[in-house]
Amino acid sequence: MKTPHFAIVGAGTAGLATAILLARAGNHVTIFEQTDQLSPVGAGLLLQPAGLAVFEHLGVLEHALKLGAKVTGLEGQLPNKRLLVNSHYHQAGHNLYGLGIHRATLCHVLTHKLAEYSSHVTWRMGHSIERIQEQQNEVRLFGSQQQQSFDACFDAVLIANGARSQLRPQAWVKVDQAYPWGAAWSIVPECPTLDPAILHQFYDRSKIMMGVLPTGAIPTAPQQRLSSVFWSLPTSQLQSFLKDESAKQQWLKQVADRWPDVAEWLTQLLSNQQHQPQWLSAQYRDVVMSQFGQGRIGVIGDAAHAMSPQLGQGANMALLDAWAFSQSLHAAKQNQQMDWSALWQHYHQYRGSSTQFYQFLSRLLTPLYQSNHWWAGGLRDLTFPWMYQIPYFRKEMAITISGLKTGLFQQLDYQQVAQYAGKDHVFNAKTESLPEYE
Ligand SMILES: Cc1cc2nc3c(=O)[nH]c(=O)nc-3n(C[C@H](O)[C@H](O)[C@H](O)COP(=O)(O)OP(=O)(O)OC[C@H]3O[C@@H](n4cnc5c(N)ncnc54)[C@H](O)[C@@H]3O)c2cc1C
Repeated sequence: MKTPHFAIVGAGTAGLATAILLARAGNHVTIFEQTDQLSPVGAGLLLQPAGLAVFEHLGVLEHALKLGAKVTGLEGQLPNKRLLVNSHYHQAGHNLYGLGIHRATLCHVLTHKLAEYSSHVTWRMGHSIERIQEQQNEVRLFGSQQQQSFDACFDAVLIANGARSQLRPQAWVKVDQAYPWGAAWSIVPECPTLDPAILHQFYDRSKIMMGVLPTGAIPTAPQQRLSSVFWSLPTSQLQSFLKDESAKQQWLKQVADRWPDVAEWLTQLLSNQQHQPQWLSAQYRDVVMSQFGQGRIGVIGDAAHAMSPQLGQGANMALLDAWAFSQSLHAAKQNQQMDWSALWQHYHQYRGSSTQFYQFLSRLLTPLYQSNHWWAGGLRDLTFPWMYQIPYFRKEMAITISGLKTGLFQQLDYQQVAQYAGKDHVFNAKTESLPEYE
């Protein structure tokens, strides 16, 4: 069988991780990225144990640990200092932890690994793909580079171009809509008063939510530890956030009335005239698809299942997609022939129920934190402390946050994802089956 040549559209988390796994297995990969340079902009993110299992499988975990910030749990405080959310990874399994990471670091770690397989990888930076056509034994990509049109053929294509993708086959899209709420965010020097191993959140009803995420360091300044600050807002208010001095004072008062210690730190940050924090805004989409692939076309990452970052799962899901695709490809290639329909059957078996589970939960929980419903925050404040009293729910909550759930009663085993025993290894979904919940 001739070595397959894959096109990957988009060099984000999903695209880069998949490229590493495909190239490592000896396939040819061409990456199309619309920007001229990889300089990812975005708030820091939290890689959950599921994502870190894929990092271990990719061989990048050690490198990421040098720059990222180990996170042991998530604590969400109400204005009366009571902890509404108090979830720690050890409740899900021994030795589990998360990693707060800057997007530039995430990209650096992945591209560094990809460089090891450079003989199998072709980069097409500044190339935007506009249309994809499946033909009998190939796919043809149509795009533009510096206003020049081009087209090129490949054995298969993976669409990994993010939440706003216009390339995902419309017939597979069940939901594609913007969330009414987003967040203003900034990356600042690490908060000296909050525990640097905890993702801290602060809530008042469903209208006020703030997060402080340990974000580690960037490769060019490894000594400077950072935090990401998030402030939740309806999308219509994002542009005017902190636009003038009176807006700043109003915001600080809102925080000080509820969480004075954090307000003190924020006041210091905002009063530093030389290094004013830069505030940017993030908006989210909700994308649900009936399938992720067919024939020679697949959709992965946010392009396939964008959701609100409330559960902190987007990048983890992108990494699990990469892992699942490489496992499925290996399984479908075994008789010296590529069986594309078997590939997608495997892939949906790996990713279908897990994605459904997290998307369902994200839709259920997001309005409890970001909405104008008068009842949402109250309902949450009544039910969550009760749930945390029950060991079963406490553990379930921790496993859910860890990104390891594959359904209500099933979970993925960290080691099964993390292991990599060389080119010929594949976790056999048929014979080994996904581990049952203990
Ligand atoms: C505020 C915020 C906080 C978040 N926090 C977390 C968190 O804590 N944990 C977590 O796991 N996730 C988090 N996420 C989600 C996470 O950022 C995404 O799920 C993840 O980055 C998706 O990766 P991706 O590779 O699918 O897409 P992207 O990272 O969006 O990459 C898509 C790439 O495709 C390129 N592209 C687009 N169109 C084209 C085209 N036509 N041709 C060629 N190239 C193209 C883009 O330039 C881009 O480089 C958060 C998201 C937000 C907004």
